[in-house]
Amino acid sequence: MEATDQKKTSYTQDAMTTIDSLEAFEKQYTRIPVEAIIKQDVLRLGVHFDEKSLEKGDYKTKDYFIFTFDHIPLQEQSETVRFRAPEEIKVSGGHFNLKPTVISVRLDHRSPYQVRFTEEGPALYLNDTNLGSVEFPPIPDWYRHRTESGKSPGEIAPVIEWGYLLYLTVFRNCQYFGKDEECAFCDINHNWRQQKMAGRPYTGIKSVEELLEVLAWVDKEDNTAKVYTITGGSVLTNLKKKNETDFYFEYAEAIESKFPGRWMGKMVTQAWEKEDLWRFKNVGIQVYHPNYEIWDKKLFPLICPGKERFIGRENWIRRIIESVEVFGPSHVIPNFVGGVELAKPHGYDTVEEAVASTGEGLDYFMSHGVVPRFTTWCPEPYTTLGSQPGPPLKYFLELLTVWKDTFEKYNLPVPPGYGEPGPGNAVFSVSAFMDVIGYEGR
Ligand code: SF4
Repeated sequence: MEATDQKKTSYTQDAMTTIDSLEAFEKQYTRIPVEAIIKQDVLRLGVHFDEKSLEKGDYKTKDYFIFTFDHIPLQEQSETVRFRAPEEIKVSGGHFNLKPTVISVRLDHRSPYQVRFTEEGPALYLNDTNLGSVEFPPIPDWYRHRTESGKSPGEIAPVIEWGYLLYLTVFRNCQYFGKDEECAFCDINHNWRQQKMAGRPYTGIKSVEELLEVLAWVDKEDNTAKVYTITGGSVLTNLKKKNETDFYFEYAEAIESKFPGRWMGKMVTQAWEKEDLWRFKNVGIQVYHPNYEIWDKKLFPLICPGKERFIGRENWIRRIIESVEVFGPSHVIPNFVGGVELAKPHGYDTVEEAVASTGEGLDYFMSHGVVPRFTTWCPEPYTTLGSQPGPPLKYFLELLTVWKDTFEKYNLPVPPGYGEPGPGNAVFSVSAFMDVIGYEGR
């Protein structure tokens, strides 16, 4: 995969973002809203906070809802940052006159993006340029309760996406274990260990009863959350004497029996056979996310060795397409990890090759009415891929362009369960795919 064309963009030669480079991208990628450009760059490079900006007010801090997402190990962060960093930031105004843009927080003190204290409130800076005022997410009222066993609701049913999504990681480990099985980008097992070492209460397997206890407060007191996701690591043998589908079904059934249709139910799991999926659909689950992570045929076994060994790429893809018969095409939304096809040592050398490969997968799925979404690959230190430079911003802008073009080519509906699309509306905080939908250019 050697780059021979001098014009191609080498993965390894990406300079840190400056205001000049952002302005150049804004002029070049006129079909991508500037909000999406900045969101992707903050996600890819991370952000840091001056401690004074974290001192004032009550706001929702990071619940570490499944992975760390931080570029820096928890032990290397100061106490203030470790326990006071907000889940997300919402940036508005500033140099580019941004519409309100919600961005997930990934801590990295090396980033050129910093949230600073100002007399008017916190603001996001790129070096010395003010990119806009910053809000931190509100704490839902129901976070004030404690479960009978003394746990915080944010430990059992955290909200993200500015309160829109209840993220229920019911199993906080994965039975794919070690570098021969774990997905190479994933730190679910290491995150669990880090949180325990940092002294944070962090339940490995959530009890159904405790989950229902917290959801009863949400049901009574909350109007912001519209969707929940049930997810967790893979179960290869059994867990609590149940196989994988039985284990996860217990949660879906319990929630939908107690609160039928109260929120839109989504499952993020491995790709299951459609025969196993019908009972989830019948009990009330509406959206299915069998994440395929990476399209490339040669890279899939290297990046997802456990999934390759136990299920296999061809089977995985077949199951995604067949699950359309159960949920309907628009309600099957498999995720891929944007940029991991550039990861060293096995990935592509150029942005062009990476986007061409991933674009092929997008076309395949979208031609079947399935709309893959993506998250932004975050090189977390304790993963198999380890700390290494993330993809250049150009990669994400090309990817957003291809994603938008393909989505529009097949005239697909807005993916359900993500709230309103478009700049200023999108609350999906770990990539900008919702920010580009419907944008008409400038
Ligand atoms: S299947 Fe892969 S991505 Fe999912 S939790 Fe396990 S290691 Fe992580």
